[in-house]
Amino acid sequence: MRIGHGYDVHKLVEGRKLILGGVQIYHNKGLLGHSDADVLTHAIMDSLLGSLALGDIGKLFPDTDPRYKGANSIELLRQVCRIIDQKGFRIVNIDATVCAQKPKLAPHISHMRFKIARACGIDISQVSIKATTEEGLGFTGNMEGISATAVCLVNEKAFGFFGAFLGN
Ligand code: MG
Repeated sequence: MRIGHGYDVHKLVEGRKLILGGVQIYHNKGLLGHSDADVLTHAIMDSLLGSLALGDIGKLFPDTDPRYKGANSIELLRQVCRIIDQKGFRIVNIDATVCAQKPKLAPHISHMRFKIARACGIDISQVSIKATTEEGLGFTGNMEGISATAVCLVNEKAFGFFGAFLGN
């Protein structure tokens, strides 16, 4: 069993779509970035890569590479999960928090959990997403940006009799 942690921040600007956990949310501003700037999905990907000491998404999907311009982060998450699988591990669970003063994210949480779980090939019960404000403090409080943190657990897949016994 291994644990991973991820953290990401993107700046809020006018004229961009706001996409969090693969869900487009109506707001007067969106996140700036080379890809779709989905800060939540980025933190989750970094936690997964971190769990196996595989670096970070900047290394895997460089922002200097035109292939990732406007990239759908859910697709990138799918690629990260393929790597985790190829390394012989499976995701036990993911727990993530988004820090945003606005907009209210509660109505979108279930949809985000569904999108993340589907991209990872796991059950929605294995994906926890929470949203909080920072009480008007700092860069999330004054709505300059949105941050996200994520932790995950991954487990080595077992094979043969013991694998079947353990439900792998
Ligand atoms: Mg990012």
